Amino acid sequence: MTAIDSPKHKKAKALKSTSRRPAKDLCSECGLCDTYYIHYVKEACAFINQQIAELEAETHGRSRNLENQDDWYFGVHQDMMAARKKQPIPGAQWTGIVSTIAIEMLNRGMVEGVVCVQNTKEDRFQPMPIIARTPEEILAAKVNKPTLSPNLSVLEQIEQSGMKRLLVIGVGCQIQALRAVEKQLGLEKLYVLGTPCVDNVTRAGLQKFLDTTSKSPETVVYYEFMQDFRVHFKHEDGSIETVPFFGLNTKELKDVFAPSCMTCFDYVNSLADLVVGYMGAPFGWQWIVVRNDTGQEMLDLVKDLIETQPVNSSGDRRNAVQQSIPAYDKGVTLPMWAAKLMGVVIEKIGPKGLEYARFSIDSHFTRNYLYVKRNYPEKLAAHVPEYAQRIVNQYKLPQS
Ligand code: FAD
Repeated sequence: MTAIDSPKHKKAKALKSTSRRPAKDLCSECGLCDTYYIHYVKEACAFINQQIAELEAETHGRSRNLENQDDWYFGVHQDMMAARKKQPIPGAQWTGIVSTIAIEMLNRGMVEGVVCVQNTKEDRFQPMPIIARTPEEILAAKVNKPTLSPNLSVLEQIEQSGMKRLLVIGVGCQIQALRAVEKQLGLEKLYVLGTPCVDNVTRAGLQKFLDTTSKSPETVVYYEFMQDFRVHFKHEDGSIETVPFFGLNTKELKDVFAPSCMTCFDYVNSLADLVVGYMGAPFGWQWIVVRNDTGQEMLDLVKDLIETQPVNSSGDRRNAVQQSIPAYDKGVTLPMWAAKLMGVVIEKIGPKGLEYARFSIDSHFTRNYLYVKRNYPEKLAAHVPEYAQRIVNQYKLPQS
């Protein structure tokens, strides 16, 4: 079953925050079950009913062309580029393209509200989804909350507010569930601005990651796994701490990522109209994927505020990915001096641009495939989309 399209939608009682979720351990806390749209969870949940190809066809007019490897990796798209704001927004995750598009859409009256996620007063990393109705509220949602975030928990408020034109900003699992119930929201127009997403964590998991990896966990305001194969932590005083990927304490961190993220094959947010990330772009630039005409319409709003360049690709990821598979399995951690050296070498000769994005997608999909096969073998066939299966088939995986 694809998107739900009965004219009058049905309601069910939202779950209490403490109740076990229908997806059980695989719940990504997208927020759907905090609303009466939980009625549709069995069809809509990305971890109960993977239906990316069907929803792509409904949203973009076609699903991925499986003869085209770019489609396997980056999803349905009509354009791709590297971009950055001419004047970056201070404190945004990258240059603030996401916040800027949302503000333009609101200022020009294209939408009446924007679903985005601020943080609570007490904790800069604790997500607090809202429907923003002013540019200030959108700006206050800038920067990643690198934790599972119940963005869809505000869906009931949309229907109650009578809003007809809405922008939703979100990550893949949130957007899959949103697309499945889109027709029930009573909207005239829904715009979806997505970011890629991988390796998300609960708030407790985030603390473990920060404590294990950063020298000063309590002052981290932002972090990102960058294209130079290092994690960059930005601290309150503006200083940047970098830690090479190869020096991460893989053994300690193995169980830190949420089980939902360990079974996710929608890294690139297949169902958004427009995707803004970084991993297919040169260092310091953002990566933009325009999936359909709606996405192009959104991007056009900021064309005078950004500079762009074509995407490029160099290097060959395949050996590095193949070697990383048993290394991850065994929880190999290099001594820091070796990790730093390896970081320098791989930055010089390693994959860049779109090839870096493929490196990251391949590494995560092979890891996740093994995770599903070992922990949820009964789900494997239906849960792994065909494009992901083809990506995984390029590598030799351990038999068990
Ligand atoms: P900003 O203008 O700073 O706006 C950020 C927006 O993100 C805000 O509108 C906010 O509502 C929304 N947001 C913040 N946290 C969450 C959340 N937890 N769930 C849903 N929405 C949220 N890009 C890649 O290319 N590769 C990756 O591996 C990758 N991993 C990511 C992992 C996570 C958990 C997240 C949230 C994003 C990830 N991204 C990744 C996207 C990237 O980090 C930037 O978010 C993106 O480039 C936009 O930057 P910006 O400066 O334009 O955003």
